[in-house]
Amino acid sequence: MDEVTGAQLIAEALKSQNVEYMFGIVGVPIIEVAMAAQAAGIKYVGMRNEQAACYAASAIGYLTGWPAVCLVVSGPGLIHALGGMANANTNCWPVIVIGGSSDRNQETTGAFQEFPQVEACRLYSKFSARPSSLEMIPAVVEKAVRSSIYGRPGACYIDIAGDMVNAKTDRTSVRFVSCCPAPPVSQADSREITQAVRLLKAAQRPLIIVGKGAAYARAEKEIRELVEVTGIPFLPTPMGKGVLPDDHSNCVAAARSRALLQADVVVLLGARLNWILHFGFPPRFSPHVKIIQVDLCAEELSNNVRAASALLGGIRAVVSQLLDTVRSESWRFPSDSQWWATLKDKMTANAQISKTLALQSTLPMNYYTAFHHISELLPKDCIIVSEGANTMDIGRTMLLNYLPRHRLDAGTFGTMGVGPGFAIAAAVLEQTQKCAQRVVCVEGDSAFGFSGMEVETMCRYKLPIIIIVINNNGIYSGVDPETWKEMEKMGDMTTIAPPVTLLPEARYEQVMTAFRGRGYLVRTVEELRSALQESLKNTEMPSLINVLIDPASDRKQQVSVVRPAPEGFRSS
Ligand code: ADP
Ligand code: MG
Repeated sequence: MDEVTGAQLIAEALKSQNVEYMFGIVGVPIIEVAMAAQAAGIKYVGMRNEQAACYAASAIGYLTGWPAVCLVVSGPGLIHALGGMANANTNCWPVIVIGGSSDRNQETTGAFQEFPQVEACRLYSKFSARPSSLEMIPAVVEKAVRSSIYGRPGACYIDIAGDMVNAKTDRTSVRFVSCCPAPPVSQADSREITQAVRLLKAAQRPLIIVGKGAAYARAEKEIRELVEVTGIPFLPTPMGKGVLPDDHSNCVAAARSRALLQADVVVLLGARLNWILHFGFPPRFSPHVKIIQVDLCAEELSNNVRAASALLGGIRAVVSQLLDTVRSESWRFPSDSQWWATLKDKMTANAQISKTLALQSTLPMNYYTAFHHISELLPKDCIIVSEGANTMDIGRTMLLNYLPRHRLDAGTFGTMGVGPGFAIAAAVLEQTQKCAQRVVCVEGDSAFGFSGMEVETMCRYKLPIIIIVINNNGIYSGVDPETWKEMEKMGDMTTIAPPVTLLPEARYEQVMTAFRGRGYLVRTVEELRSALQESLKNTEMPSLINVLIDPASDRKQQVSVVRPAPEGFRSS
């Protein structure tokens, strides 16, 4: 008899589905699963919270197009991972969550950490199942991997009864399944393509919007050709940034509002008309805008705005179809059009405002000054992870991306706490693929708090991530240390401290030094530049640069106005 355990079957099944990475936190009953995975050649990264583990696994799915695993224990472990599953599913990123659960003969008995896990995961996933026997494990694993990447990508859950982990069976009784093929490609209806090109040719003010679906689809070559052959301006969504470089001459990100408002025909490539794109509704879009929508999810087509042309299919295939037709008709949008003139005027004006703010030399620094100097020093090929409110919004406009899939942020779900997990995933990929691209994680001070303990994970694996905490002492805004002291004197802080405030000048860099990474506290431009330069040179260990900025610093319009501290707490 050739016996095999449940843990081995899970590990071997994952391996035969080409799964290469597993992130998790072990405990009873899944320790042996992680060990078997390592024995099968899967890289295992032990994290500090299941949420961050799931963020990390899902980032691998986005960056590589193939899912990684998040391995968690039963009950609370699985429930912590739900945040990561929801984030992945909402972002349309593949991930496989494997949860240990209570034994088969203990169901409904009030067993240790017992929870209806398969049911709990249904809302957060495309597929949620518990193999009923050891023999079924490989088939369920294949189905989960396939479901995560076929159609619209998303999260899948596999529940493993605790007693199955060490149970044994004979190999000959197991139903083994070979690796699922890459997702099949579909093209749009050719009549729809003709209609789309007709619409484009009639447009006075056309615009291409590039979303993270295009980044996931690896459609950079086709989209670059479409942009360059047609001469149409394009606008990336936050994670669509880098599919074409932000400094491409057709990029009109610096005139985003104007471009959205005045476009008469929009080619939507892998982006949903959700809140990120203001639903496609007035007053942010013209009420007459015609949408040429490309998506592989049929249910997505015509959401919020009825598509003038609905192109159902894979982005690469459909953009190639559009290109064939455009080329055969030798059509090009004129570069001397009024549309281009309008957009260029607006871009010049907007760039001037940011530049004025960036060059302010008052201390503490504002966001624009900090980002200006950071962007000057970052290598063009670095992977930028970003989260926070103003930190993410302002950072998005000032930190440029030049390569596809080099920006990871709070995404469709607006999830705070994703940064460290995403950064770990990106850095593990770089390390194992022997690439030297740096991962820079730009965090608001509030955002950093959610998963801050993952700094230990970074140090343990010697991942040379650079975390930059843009510290304004709070959520959206905070107060300065003097104002804080005044408030403390006035009595019970639970009734006084504005809910948005966090401890002023908190020493986040010491979280990094606690685990033998490098930490820097910076207040001035010179300190910021030298800390970042030193961190970039250090390829052995992670660094954390704690940048104390003006707690009243805000976005463009308000930045020159000094915002007063809350009424009654103004320090002299
Ligand atoms: P963004 O956040 O950039 O606006 P979204 O996540 O809202 O992007 O939208 C991505 C869209 O891309 C989803 O509707 C998804 O179905 C679609 N998509 C993902 N992969 C592909 C692909 N290969 N081909 C076509 N559409 C895709
Ligand atoms: Mg903050």
